[in-house]
Amino acid sequence: MTLENPTLVLNCGSSSIKYALISADNQTRITGLAENLGLDTARIKHTHLDGEKQEVNIAGGSHKLALQKILALLEQYHPIAVGHRVVHGGREFSEAVEVTPHVLEEVKRLKILAPLHNPANALGIEAVNAIYPGLPQVVVFDTAFHQTMPPVAYRYAIPKALYDDECVRRYGFHGTSHAYVSERASQLTEQEGPHGWITAHLGNGCSATAIYDGKSLDTSMGITPLEGLMMGTRSGDVDPGLHIHLKRTLDMSLEKIDTMLNKQSGLLGVSGLSNDMRTVEQAADEGNEDAKLALELFSYRAGKYLASLSCALPTFTGIVFTGGIGENSVSMRRSILEVMRHFNIQADYDKNAELVRGAEGNFHLADSAVELWVIPTDEEYQIAEETRAALNL
Ligand code: AMP
Repeated sequence: MTLENPTLVLNCGSSSIKYALISADNQTRITGLAENLGLDTARIKHTHLDGEKQEVNIAGGSHKLALQKILALLEQYHPIAVGHRVVHGGREFSEAVEVTPHVLEEVKRLKILAPLHNPANALGIEAVNAIYPGLPQVVVFDTAFHQTMPPVAYRYAIPKALYDDECVRRYGFHGTSHAYVSERASQLTEQEGPHGWITAHLGNGCSATAIYDGKSLDTSMGITPLEGLMMGTRSGDVDPGLHIHLKRTLDMSLEKIDTMLNKQSGLLGVSGLSNDMRTVEQAADEGNEDAKLALELFSYRAGKYLASLSCALPTFTGIVFTGGIGENSVSMRRSILEVMRHFNIQADYDKNAELVRGAEGNFHLADSAVELWVIPTDEEYQIAEETRAALNL
């Protein structure tokens, strides 16, 4: 096994760094995770090329120290570029771009739209720059893929000045995942293009996108990743009047409401048990009524959203399921399709049951109105590809 001309993909969070070193032919990769950064328990969990696992203690270590250690672990493979996953590219970035001082400033400035994520992404860029000043770096934005949405999909029905002066609009997220699985579906289908896909990324975070001819036309997430589908701990859509209601009745602060909607809602909030689909499914199987309702809410809201997104498509070729739930939960895929009962979708439920644990394939019957695909997402590969493309490598 070799790692020829690899690209390093970094996903820097507020207290963690996920990384993958991917060969140019995408046949080989080394992966790892630095976690608990800033705490005594900070450590790097690294998997070597031969599969051997190593843990490196970096007690109290910062992003910079973690990246120094990660780059030392990978030095022998001579990465030729670094691709950073960056959450928010605002309306400035519609594709991956090479990092320049101006781009770095923009990533920092856009913290107004992603206060938790963009600063951590910027830290990662600066740390790599300090350690390897000559190594080209690219930023790949979660929002960029959705910049093709038309105003009718991205504007909110609120005063125009908020859009003009404050960039208040819908942006959408999970762009690399939606881009990857829709491209892959277009390679796999036997139907002639252009194709219209609805991609359902159902993981701990959940979003769905309408994609026609490779372009995002509408998506479920908005100015933040809270809008849209019900998720692991996020509520998805609520009445915007809920905030004032909770302020009036419980005197809840905006910060408390924000925490409740982002961290204590979704599967966790409704089931009262867990944000993990496996735990909720097991409890529902054992008869827990709250868990059953959480699953019903999840599938009803997802089905309703997928149905509504079909309005954005000139033609509807098929649905693509991805993310931990989309790739593995046979019963959730079925429940969502049952919610969409007026679409003449015909599924082969034996085939559906086989598509788990990384399997890629379709499960529609020949007379189904639309195709049904399960495609495991590969955001690291997509980021590596976009990094090489931005650098003409
Ligand atoms: P992700 O954020 O894409 O890693 O997805 C995480 C979600 O996928 C969690 O809710 C997991 O419970 C769910 N998940 C992973 N494996 C399974 C499975 N075999 N069955 C149901 N849900 C799963």
